[in-house]
Amino acid sequence: MAMQNGHSNKKQLDVIVVGAGLVGSLEALYLAKRGHRVRLYEFREDIRKTPQARGRSINLALSVRGRRALKDVGLETHMIKEHGIPMTGRRIHRTDGSTYVIPYDANTKQSIYSVGRNYLNGLLLQESEQYGNVERYFNHKLIEANLKKGSLTFLKTDTNETINVTADLIIGADGAFSAVRKAMMKQPFFDFSQKYIEHGYLELCIPPADNGGFLMPANYLHIWPRGEFMMIALPNQDCSWTVTLFMPFAKFKNLDTEEKLLAFFEKYFPDSIPLIGKQKLVEDFFAVKPSPLVAVKCRPYHVEDKALIIGDAAHAVVPFYGQGMNAGFEDCTLLDQLFQKHHDNLAEILQEFSETRWEDTFAISDLAMYNYIEMRDLVTRPSYKFRKAMDDFIFWLLPNFWVPLYNSVTFSTMPYSLCIKNREWQDRVLKKFLSIVGIGALIGGAVAFKIKYYS
Ligand SMILES: Cc1cc2nc3c(=O)[nH]c(=O)nc-3n(C[C@H](O)[C@H](O)[C@H](O)COP(=O)(O)OP(=O)(O)OC[C@H]3O[C@@H](n4cnc5c(N)ncnc54)[C@H](O)[C@@H]3O)c2cc1C
Repeated sequence: MAMQNGHSNKKQLDVIVVGAGLVGSLEALYLAKRGHRVRLYEFREDIRKTPQARGRSINLALSVRGRRALKDVGLETHMIKEHGIPMTGRRIHRTDGSTYVIPYDANTKQSIYSVGRNYLNGLLLQESEQYGNVERYFNHKLIEANLKKGSLTFLKTDTNETINVTADLIIGADGAFSAVRKAMMKQPFFDFSQKYIEHGYLELCIPPADNGGFLMPANYLHIWPRGEFMMIALPNQDCSWTVTLFMPFAKFKNLDTEEKLLAFFEKYFPDSIPLIGKQKLVEDFFAVKPSPLVAVKCRPYHVEDKALIIGDAAHAVVPFYGQGMNAGFEDCTLLDQLFQKHHDNLAEILQEFSETRWEDTFAISDLAMYNYIEMRDLVTRPSYKFRKAMDDFIFWLLPNFWVPLYNSVTFSTMPYSLCIKNREWQDRVLKKFLSIVGIGALIGGAVAFKIKYYS
């Protein structure tokens, strides 16, 4: 049962959250728990009434940062125990169809969880019904904002009416193409950059087996790394798989006939054809266009004590570290801690959030770009396997001293920028160690040669 914290002696803030996606819906719960009035405005219709996932990925990898946030609002156990499918490692598919496993965490055996986007979003919205201080308005599109005045204009997409509303605080959780952020861009000193990568993605599906089970081993994130491009598959609750092909747009464009598509799959992903089904592969591939992937960096995230952006609105990242939602959920956790620290003083909360969060969101953006290369290419290389083995060994030996990069990002709440610094430090240590070993081996070799030569 949802509980509001005891904040009876504090002023109840009137907050509008724009966007009832994953992050906006979660933020509404955090604020409701603090006893504030929350109005949640969403452009689209109620996701709980929409049978299919709308655009974006159908399922997502939930890891520690996201789990911590769900725990705070009382939903972690349900998501992990009742819904999420644990994925213990990457299962790599070679072109000959054979596979091998690279565990995410060979020592402490932690998993990431495949969760349904619609399911999680619906659950968050459903939970908000438990709070009398949350109001939900669907089919409301933000079309204009005066952030300094705290006033917003929405278009009701079902009736074409416009409405004006005001609030003490506006939180923009309206995604990568945020209208709130657009309004912020009019402020002086607002820095913004966005990057579309040359690769797009297209989703396919492996159905459940005839007996209703999974057609591939379920507890893995399956990857078909092919250098310049890759395909991945995450398990769904109904024992189907969401398969995502990431590839340069130019390559997608070349696959313009059924014959070319099938020849391409025969060459690079032959084992996936009987799983997806030839007919279904052709139908699904040509049914939609590949979607673009964009990364957004901007700062500051706030306007005075009136407006803030969080989630993809503040820091859309490419999906290759599985951290976009997790980072957005972490925004909500950190914001909640600042509400606690500054006793609801909005000017201080927003300022500190802006000043402290950007370095970490920029870091996860860079890490996500790097991880695409690791997933589609480096995982198959001996140098990657050697480094992973070294990391796993030292982590096993000294678990508190040596946390590998993937573990720090995925299985800890270490600030993302520190994860990078930690990795750079490890690189330096290993480099020194290997050069000492190398010099030692050279000296040893020279001594052995000399002894042999003179004896
Ligand atoms: C292919 C792919 C795979 C991914 N995999 C993962 C993963 O495994 N793990 C992970 O952590 N992340 C993953 N992500 C990232 C994740 O999807 C996003 O980070 C997450 O959805 C961000 O949530 P959000 O609520 O900030 O934004 P969104 O999910 O985009 O929600 C924004 C909401 O705002 C609404 N809105 C937009 N404009 C307006 C407006 N003008 N007025 C009112 N409402 C508006 C939208 O309708 C939407 O409901 C993936 C992304 C992609 C594309």
